[in-house]
Amino acid sequence: MGQKDIKLLWGRSGNRCAICKIELTQDASSTNSTFTFGEQAHIVGEKEDAPRGKSQLDQKERDSYHNLILLCPNHHTTIDRNESDWSIEKLHQIKSTHELWVTEKLSETIDRVKLAKSTILAGIVDNAVTLCNLDNWHGWTSFALATDPQWSRDLPENTYKFRQKVISTIWPKEFDEFKRATITLSILLNQAAQTFMENSDLQGDSYIPFKFYKRIDPNPNYADDVKRYEQWLERCYSTIYEATKAANWFADVVRDYVNPMFFVEEGKFIIEQGMKSITDLNYYSELLEFTEEEKAKYPEKIFEIEDNALSR
Ligand SMILES: [Zn+2]
Ligand SMILES: [Zn+2]
Repeated sequence: MGQKDIKLLWGRSGNRCAICKIELTQDASSTNSTFTFGEQAHIVGEKEDAPRGKSQLDQKERDSYHNLILLCPNHHTTIDRNESDWSIEKLHQIKSTHELWVTEKLSETIDRVKLAKSTILAGIVDNAVTLCNLDNWHGWTSFALATDPQWSRDLPENTYKFRQKVISTIWPKEFDEFKRATITLSILLNQAAQTFMENSDLQGDSYIPFKFYKRIDPNPNYADDVKRYEQWLERCYSTIYEATKAANWFADVVRDYVNPMFFVEEGKFIIEQGMKSITDLNYYSELLEFTEEEKAKYPEKIFEIEDNALSR
């Protein structure tokens, strides 16, 4: 389910159950006596064999805002247990009546503007999930951090697309940290991709390193070339570490600003770091995060590093 769909659903439902109008929360951990956990129920079922599941709709349509209705757990159970009383048409009817009730109730201007702004943020989050491969962070970084690293063909291009989207975003001004974390992620991930692309070739569906020290045999500069190659590898790895810190920061701000449940089940983004010494063959899972002091300096810090590199 996309963050944009979730945002629209909660916003237009006024955070209330469409049937009983009880107030709901999105945050499973903060459920207490005053708030009930809200459930994003599918109108046409999520799968063919789910309640009300027989339909021509594809998965994307089933998970879209238009096919979701916000309900309390009780009413979700009620509609799923008794399909004949709660048809697809009836649920659509209930949803639109409820949304109309919400617009009439709410002080319109304020909430409309707020919803429009948070929909912008949610759209960025959806782009980040797909273009930055957030839902497979551990997977893609394991390949990219291997002794013989690989990047899948689409990833460098997608990180570039994300960077372009971030550049062209018109930011609502009250979301400063969200903006800084997103820009930082887009730049650092793009840097990791660029660094790898400096010295790699496309083979099939993956980019793999060009081992220039093997270019000629015998190579009179072998030792120097190996050293240069290893230095480049180090830069590849360290740019991925920095991008991982940015991804964790980004997920934190998404939880703060957009959806408290964002990647809560999967947890933080971790990466595998290789052998720490020659006798140690284990891999270590590591959680990399910026400190608060570091966060305060991003993304400006990146521009300073770039300026210094240029003036050298
Ligand atoms: Zn209810
Ligand atoms: Zn259901």
